[in-house]
Amino acid sequence: MALKRERSEQLYKQALDVIVGGVNSPSRSFRAVGGGAPVFMKRAKGAYFWDEDGNRYIDYLGAFGPIILGHAHPAVTEAIVQTAADGTLYGTPTEKEIRFARMLREAIPSCEQIRFVNSGTEAVMTTIRLARAYTGRDKILKFAGCYHGHSDLVLVAAGSGPSTLGIPDSAGIPQSIAQEVITIPFNNLDALREALDRWGDQIAAVLVEPLVGNFGIVPPQPGFLEKVNEWVHQAGGLVIYDEVITAFRFHYGGIQTMYGVEPDLTALGKIIGGGLPIGAYGGRREIMEKVAPMGPMYQAGTMAGNPLSMAAGIACLEVLSRPGVYERLDEMGKRLADGIGELARNYGIPVQINRQGGAFAVYFTEEPVIDYEGAQRADSEMFARFFRLMLDEGIYLAPSKYEAWFLTLAHSDEDISDTLQAVDHAFKQMKKS
Ligand code: PMP
Repeated sequence: MALKRERSEQLYKQALDVIVGGVNSPSRSFRAVGGGAPVFMKRAKGAYFWDEDGNRYIDYLGAFGPIILGHAHPAVTEAIVQTAADGTLYGTPTEKEIRFARMLREAIPSCEQIRFVNSGTEAVMTTIRLARAYTGRDKILKFAGCYHGHSDLVLVAAGSGPSTLGIPDSAGIPQSIAQEVITIPFNNLDALREALDRWGDQIAAVLVEPLVGNFGIVPPQPGFLEKVNEWVHQAGGLVIYDEVITAFRFHYGGIQTMYGVEPDLTALGKIIGGGLPIGAYGGRREIMEKVAPMGPMYQAGTMAGNPLSMAAGIACLEVLSRPGVYERLDEMGKRLADGIGELARNYGIPVQINRQGGAFAVYFTEEPVIDYEGAQRADSEMFARFFRLMLDEGIYLAPSKYEAWFLTLAHSDEDISDTLQAVDHAFKQMKKS
């Protein structure tokens, strides 16, 4: 039964007038799932959203990643409220920045020194500038379909948002910039070897999402990350990990600490802000010392390291450091992903499910997905239909076939059961039509 969303529709009309496209980030629009008004949410608590029409949804969007504890977690809310009472922004250093940077370094030791920024975009953009400053080289190598924020250099063959909208490259990026970016398929060592043989001495850095979270969930093939490190270092370049999605998602640290492969520089964001705006980058001290005021590479920020983001981030990591947290996310992820797989088999609906801990992707395709081309092959129409049916069952998924489902600590066993029942209904409808 279709849920009533009249108020969302009214608000969408109002939004279209004053906010470009009616949304403040294109990935929030429903363009990739048939268009129309996106759902306007009014309130969120734990694993649930309530929209402007009073409908409740179980949330698997997790705000595109940051909300791993669930919405309005008491520890985070209390930290924000208490900190706000003492002033939200000073433009001076504060003790909280040291505390938080130490927490990050303890969890991700390759970040010997850290600088806080305000978004994942800024974090990645700055690691690239830093790699260029350090190596004196210009070119960047990245993997097709991987999204690294919206700065010029990385909006070439970038994943979920742009590919969903069918804009492979953004307008407004000079050819002179795009030509400094080499793009090869993820998990493809032959392509990496070829690119390094050709441009190795000009490449400042290889930018890697060490486990891809931007065309679903795609883990690296065994040995892939090790070879990237070995070959790129042989060629005199740096390895940058974009752990904006992955850090603190699967265990208390990054993919680098989970697999034991260290990059030279790391970009962080999302979860580390506890739901407030944040980004951070870090790496080996000798590289980080190129950053102003120590060195010649300039980067700054009025809001960087602001007390609210620091307080929310510290509170979030404190909860994540408790025993059993990641086991619980993994257990729920397994139950839900396996359950969906089983239902799909029962109904004869072709799906591939890639899962890591409490995050997984459901691709409507028969072929295993190990790179962007594989993810592109997943059936967009089937996803759009599934998305709409799930929405009407009160389950909120990201409105794109390229986005993952994210579980939070707030999801309950009952939520998983309810979700599986909704999937059952959705698949039944899909089978009928
Ligand atoms: N890198 C990755 C891997 C991301 O997933 C994202 C955001 N989806 C970014 C960078 C950009 O982060 P932000 O949206 O905070 O600028």
